[in-house]
Amino acid sequence: MPDLRNLPSVDKILQMPEIQLLDENYGRRLVTNAIRGQLDKLRHSDLDALSLISVALILEGVQNQLKEWTDPTLLPVINATGVILHTNLGRAPLSRAALQAINDISRGYSSLEFDLTSGGRGSRYLHAESLLTRLSGAEDAMVVNNNAAGVLLALSALANRRKVITAASQLVEIGGGFRIPDVLKQSGAHLVCVGTTNQVHLSDYEEALGEPAAAVLRVHSSNYKIIGFASEPSLTDICAVSHSYGIPVIDDLGSGTFIDTETYHLAHEPMVQESVRNGADLICFSGDKLLGGPQAGIIIGRKDLIHRLKKHPLARAVRADKLCLAALSATLLHYLKEEAEQEIPVWRMISEKPDELRTRAERWRQEINQGEVIPGESTVGGGSLPGETLPTFLLALQTRKPEMLLKQLRSLQRPIIARILEDHVVLDPRTVLSEEDSTLLLELHMLLKSG
Ligand SMILES: *Cc1c(COP(=O)(O)O)cnc(C)c1O
Repeated sequence: MPDLRNLPSVDKILQMPEIQLLDENYGRRLVTNAIRGQLDKLRHSDLDALSLISVALILEGVQNQLKEWTDPTLLPVINATGVILHTNLGRAPLSRAALQAINDISRGYSSLEFDLTSGGRGSRYLHAESLLTRLSGAEDAMVVNNNAAGVLLALSALANRRKVITAASQLVEIGGGFRIPDVLKQSGAHLVCVGTTNQVHLSDYEEALGEPAAAVLRVHSSNYKIIGFASEPSLTDICAVSHSYGIPVIDDLGSGTFIDTETYHLAHEPMVQESVRNGADLICFSGDKLLGGPQAGIIIGRKDLIHRLKKHPLARAVRADKLCLAALSATLLHYLKEEAEQEIPVWRMISEKPDELRTRAERWRQEINQGEVIPGESTVGGGSLPGETLPTFLLALQTRKPEMLLKQLRSLQRPIIARILEDHVVLDPRTVLSEEDSTLLLELHMLLKSG
């Protein structure tokens, strides 16, 4: 049996001078709890050499425990993967103006739901609404927490206990548990599936529309592509036939974009304005995918339908907060002023020229005096443009243990997220913000120097 009398008391440790600093940093209560926990652990350990336990060792344990309890888990990282809309890394970085708006609106009070003209109650829906209708050409707009919430709200408000017609080819899973059939079920709608996985005809829709239905739902396939013998009717045709039966069409665009991706030699990603023009009655898309703003779900479309959505009880549960509305409005303003490609990081990254990327990768190589610059490919990500790539240049680091180097990069003070390509660890400058360059180089320098 170890001799427990060798353990100092909590009070005794608390009186030690080393505790002073911990007290200031963490507060007395947390420090006391950590000491208690540490002593408990020692009492229950089967060390038969408790006499070897020094006070210094106990203090070290206390310090580690306090760090573990308080160190943040949500940390800024440097994205060197070349995946622009990396969902696991938080999707879109925000523009300077969007950050400023968040700062301005969150440090004090705001006119979130306050009408400055009348002095009475206002509506939070107002803030991004006019920008969205102006940009898209839709009658009305509302903003919710994210696109998944937007789709759920639209279906709940329009189709609860009624039928929703969807093509078999569009019963997609976006990832993260968002599956169209499950969302339909959750909204209380009954799915009427038309067509087959690869072939959906307009006549399939027409047949289904013979029975009463609440809506037709079109879903953008987002993160996969069916190639070969595959076809679907156009949105224009789906809308025409649905409208002839008086049935509204909900278009879940997923990413959605205001800028034509073909400008950058990418495949055509469905544009918000097109969807409005082609006749969709409600259109849902994300704030933090190709739009390049904060996490948000944007719903635009017919005034009467948006009105029903705003009145639905679920609207309150999925509403956007003021930080989101501030950042989203600032982001939308970039589109209105036609400065999106310069101001919104996602579009700056998409539009960055290979020559510029080569120059940056080359400068990195010179600074750290290691690796080689090779041509490579970046991707857009975020459930858009599957299989599409943007030509880039990578800094490739040779190492015998690439997995190990990746891990070391992840454990830096400012973690760097890279990837492995043919046994090399590669860093893509496309997704590294220019203001992160100096941090990246400093971290790399120290890591590589230490072997
Ligand atoms: C990404 C996506 C969603 C979910 O959007 P979030 O903003 O992540 O909630 C829904 N539908 C489609 C088609 C998508 O691509």
